[in-house]
Amino acid sequence: MKRSKINLKAEVTSRGGVSDLLQAPGDAVLIERGVPRWLIIKCPCGCGEEIPVNLDRRADKAWRLYRNATGLTLFPSVWRDTGCEAHFIIWRDQIVTFGGGASDNSPGRSLDLTDLARRVLAAWPPRELVSYVDVADQLGEIPWDVQEACFRLVAAGLMAEGKGSARGHFRKL
Ligand SMILES: [Zn+2]
Repeated sequence: MKRSKINLKAEVTSRGGVSDLLQAPGDAVLIERGVPRWLIIKCPCGCGEEIPVNLDRRADKAWRLYRNATGLTLFPSVWRDTGCEAHFIIWRDQIVTFGGGASDNSPGRSLDLTDLARRVLAAWPPRELVSYVDVADQLGEIPWDVQEACFRLVAAGLMAEGKGSARGHFRKL
């Protein structure tokens, strides 16, 4: 994993002129008309491509954008199926690119999630295998945060993660 920073250059209402604002890898512009429509990102890999990420939930496939005191977060991950095939997440202003290098570099490692883990465990339905995204929605929390809290609860022997297609689903032990 490689870590870099997202750099939100501007919030605009239309696509015109956006390319001029996107200079360096990780630069981004938010297009908002009433509701967030697009996040245009200069590919963090350095290939120079602009990646349009749809944020409009009326469209088929929409990403969620979270903006709060911890920074900008996008969910789920972005995976280009053409060109450089970059695969990355944006979590708390950090861009984490997958592929190559060590995998112990998650930005979540350094977070204090003790309180969140406690709330996640309290909110978890008993005996059920549930997606961390559903519990994040229920708690109004960022899914990446809840996923990291779940990983720690697994490490503490308090939860188990599903296997195969049930990965990302957890149950209380
Ligand atoms: Zn790229």
